[in-house]
Amino acid sequence: MIPVAFDYEKVKTVEEAIAALSGDDLKILAGGHSLIPAMKLRLSRPGKLIDIGGITALKDIKEEDGEIVIGAGATHADIMYHNLIRTHLPFFTEGAATIGDMQVRNWGTIGGSLAHADPAADWPAMVLAADATIEMQGVKGRRNIKATEFFTGLFATVLEPNELITAVRIAIPPDGTKSTYQKFAQPASRFALAACAVMRFPDGRTNIAFTGVGDHAFRDTGAEQAISGKAIDDASVEAAMLAALQNVDVMSDHYASEPYRRHLSKVYLKKALMAVKS
Ligand SMILES: Cc1cc2nc3c(=O)[nH]c(=O)nc-3n(C[C@H](O)[C@H](O)[C@H](O)COP(=O)(O)OP(=O)(O)OC[C@H]3O[C@@H](n4cnc5c(N)ncnc54)[C@H](O)[C@@H]3O)c2cc1C
Repeated sequence: MIPVAFDYEKVKTVEEAIAALSGDDLKILAGGHSLIPAMKLRLSRPGKLIDIGGITALKDIKEEDGEIVIGAGATHADIMYHNLIRTHLPFFTEGAATIGDMQVRNWGTIGGSLAHADPAADWPAMVLAADATIEMQGVKGRRNIKATEFFTGLFATVLEPNELITAVRIAIPPDGTKSTYQKFAQPASRFALAACAVMRFPDGRTNIAFTGVGDHAFRDTGAEQAISGKAIDDASVEAAMLAALQNVDVMSDHYASEPYRRHLSKVYLKKALMAVKS
């Protein structure tokens, strides 16, 4: 399992990365824990890798103007162990701890996970439930886009080929907000066979996102409408489970059939709602 030959350039700043990305047949290399396996399997054959792993500015996790800003180069472990995250977004701490194994968590980055858009990856559901904004920069300049508009299909996003994710921004939730990430993991890879992220605000608004279920992670507006503003009890949870996954093309593969995955997703929605119950 050896990739085809490729050129390699290591950059130290975002500006250097943008300049390097102006060519053709390039791929950004971050933690390498999705890209390198894909290259070894010859599913990806870039002519050149631009390694952004040395850009220290992309690793920052900070509070800025009422938002938590997570640099795209922060690893799963950086996020998992960060106090700001534990305080304001405890479900990110919980969810990061479920990603792969220690080696994957120490190398893989949030930016790489979002850009790769694996249908079973964990960060997409968490950033959707947090109503995050994704910050990007490319040869044409900067732009910000809501996570709800970022994922477009199987391994597909709105990112342009020569564009870099620089950060994920999340408004600091009001005191009393509860959040959880509930995942049924594939026992070997730890990717989600079905997982549900929920953020419940003190006024009852409830954001619900799934991953591992369809061809990309998504917010479930049907389930959100069924539970938002209502007390979480047996009847409202039942209503949310009934309303969930309407018009969703649920995946079927050798790990889980479509009916089994649909059932599992609703069970994990129930677990998530019970976890944020006051
Ligand atoms: C054994 C194993 C188990 C795993 N288990 C899980 C799991 O349980 N849950 C889970 O969610 N993931 C899992 N993963 C995937 C892991 O989290 C990856 O690290 C992650 O998906 C990609 O991040 P990366 O930094 O390694 O990106 P890379 O592999 O370096 O890049 C992935 C893709 O994103 C692009 N890219 C990277 N950074 C940027 C950026 N800043 N801007 C634009 N494009 C960028 C690259 O060009 C490439 O196309 C697992 C991986 C392995 C090998």
